[in-house]
Amino acid sequence: MAHNLFVFIDGLPYDVVQETAFLAGLCPYRYKVRPGFGYSVNIHAEMFCGRTPDEVGYLNEWAFDPEHSPLRRLRLPAFLYNEQRRIRLPVLDRGLHVVLRRLSPALAAQNVPFAYQHLFRRTQHSVYRGFLYTPFFQEIEGIHLVLSEKVPMKSGQRDAVSFQQAMDALGTAAHLLVTFCDLDHFGHRYGVWTPEYMERVGNLEEWITRLAEAFLRRHGDGRLFVFSDHGMANVRRGVQVALESALGEVGLRTYAYFLDSTMLRLWVLGDGDLLARAVALLDSLDCGTIISEQERQDFGVTARAFGDLIFVLREGHVFSPSFLGNALPKAMHGHHPEEPGQQTVFLADQQPAVAVRRTLDYYEVFRRSSS
Ligand SMILES: [Zn+2]
Repeated sequence: MAHNLFVFIDGLPYDVVQETAFLAGLCPYRYKVRPGFGYSVNIHAEMFCGRTPDEVGYLNEWAFDPEHSPLRRLRLPAFLYNEQRRIRLPVLDRGLHVVLRRLSPALAAQNVPFAYQHLFRRTQHSVYRGFLYTPFFQEIEGIHLVLSEKVPMKSGQRDAVSFQQAMDALGTAAHLLVTFCDLDHFGHRYGVWTPEYMERVGNLEEWITRLAEAFLRRHGDGRLFVFSDHGMANVRRGVQVALESALGEVGLRTYAYFLDSTMLRLWVLGDGDLLARAVALLDSLDCGTIISEQERQDFGVTARAFGDLIFVLREGHVFSPSFLGNALPKAMHGHHPEEPGQQTVFLADQQPAVAVRRTLDYYEVFRRSSS
């Protein structure tokens, strides 16, 4: 088996790679890649295990699951956040989240309105620890993992440590998987194309070049793969949907919904024309689009547990506030996978065994490279 250096960069858009000729000297094989649907928790399962959301059984970080919600017995007051009763105190609701989160992160989990906490459960999965499927790197003997997300420092300061750890591991590791996760943070915090963001792109290029040159010098048959999970698009405005004004009160006999940063998932729990009314409302908005049945098949998100309806905001828009937070990020991902800013990249110094068009395709390339 040839010696492999795998380098993962969180949130590197294709356009940035093209504009800057990122690693053009090292990696002549360059693919524009459509990301998987959803956020990192799903795209990582695609990249490392070749598994779609339908196969792993979850979409995004929260699932509608009133039977297994840790707070299923708890009915927290609806008066804090309830459009239907026209008593809307979202600011107080968010403020209480901040206070409670300090006391117990489990109780004030994210920004889910207190009145709805009993409907949802977190879907915490990591491909690096006890995952449902075996990630490709676990099948490679002698591989050393350097994970930026495990560096006990603030976002923005972890990649430099990762780089140093990877350089230190070069002498003993037959194969190396290095992750750099700060660029995603720089995107959310400063926006794409800003000086801070572009400086980090430059840092990454320098670090990866030094790492790869040392690795390839050491292993004559060495191969290099540099890959990312999704792009990043600058945010122009926050969106609020008056869903409850149109559809009535949320509940186990009516409907439930979850607002991720860029998507609205809705579950119809009663009879009647609620789904049709929801479709009519969301179709009338020009800030997003309902994912069609054809697209749900294409993206591997057909399970009804993921929502009877999935509405995704166009690039430039995020829900504000969402059930995940209050702050308006400067840039975001997790929009429709076909949108231009969502496209990401797969780079290699030698021709990959199969053509790479989707993040789902990485797994096959990695698997073959290590057999
Ligand atoms: Zn992100």
